[in-house]
Amino acid sequence: MALNADLHCHSTVSDGLLTPAALARRAKDNGVELWALTDHDEIGGLAAARDEAAALDLRFVNGVEISVSWGEDQTVHIVGLGFDAAHAPLVEGLAKVRGGRDARAQHMAAELDKVGIHGAYEGALKYAGNPALISRAHFARYIVELGHAKEVKYVFDWWLAKGKPGYVAHPWATMAEALSWIHGGGGIAVIAHPARYRLSKAQLHEMFEVFKGLGGRGIEVISGSHGEDETRECARIAREFGFLASRASDFHGPGESWIDLGKLPDLPADLTPVWSELI
Ligand code: AMP
Ligand code: MN
Ligand code: MN
Ligand code: MN
Repeated sequence: MALNADLHCHSTVSDGLLTPAALARRAKDNGVELWALTDHDEIGGLAAARDEAAALDLRFVNGVEISVSWGEDQTVHIVGLGFDAAHAPLVEGLAKVRGGRDARAQHMAAELDKVGIHGAYEGALKYAGNPALISRAHFARYIVELGHAKEVKYVFDWWLAKGKPGYVAHPWATMAEALSWIHGGGGIAVIAHPARYRLSKAQLHEMFEVFKGLGGRGIEVISGSHGEDETRECARIAREFGFLASRASDFHGPGESWIDLGKLPDLPADLTPVWSELI
């Protein structure tokens, strides 16, 4: 039996619906044997997650999902695993990345106001709690609350994806910065949900080369946001580039995610799991 590892999820410390401790309990209940919490651009939930995981005898590694600007106004997510959470450049770098979220959110709200979605900054902030962590997921919850969409997953294509009224371009970290913060802290960098980016095959290939050149080691092969064909393609990429393979639900909360914690297919047996380097 392959290890039930789930190395990607979100708590209330970013745009998830459950606290770090509640996620630890859910992971344990779902049979997860190795778990990482990977909030967006924030590591403030790791201590609570680690404490609860220890109490439950659940193996835990530090995680984070860093927002990275790539190419012409694309955003790529890099998951860091197994780093020292006290590594100062990581702590400071993440604070800088988060620092841009509040102004971006105000700009998004101004654009949404023009198309009849009023009060979106206050509405989203109500869900986020902290302006430094406000994300499109919080805007999506507010837009559902207003009745413009039935579920969060339907909001993006109408209002928040690139090219839609509430989308605002934003400079995140560079790939080199994100990887230097993770590697400086002794961690492993993994490209999150590679099939989700709006990049051509050639552009994706270039990104994998740059990532690998900067010391990036892994990609998510099994992801809550990958279909079967996408999983096959990511497995092929892992073989081509010699990447370690990760298994990642990207769970945000009950009713808001495609896949629950730990309820994922196994990695293809010939791939080397990223956790071979973590445990
Ligand atoms: P942000 O970091 O503010 O750009 O927000 C990105 C977050 O929005 C992602 O981490 C997801 O939680 C959510 N998200 C983005 N696209 C979608 C989508 N198509 N369906 C559901 N959630 C999405
Ligand atoms: Mn998210
Ligand atoms: Mn992501
Ligand atoms: Mn995620």
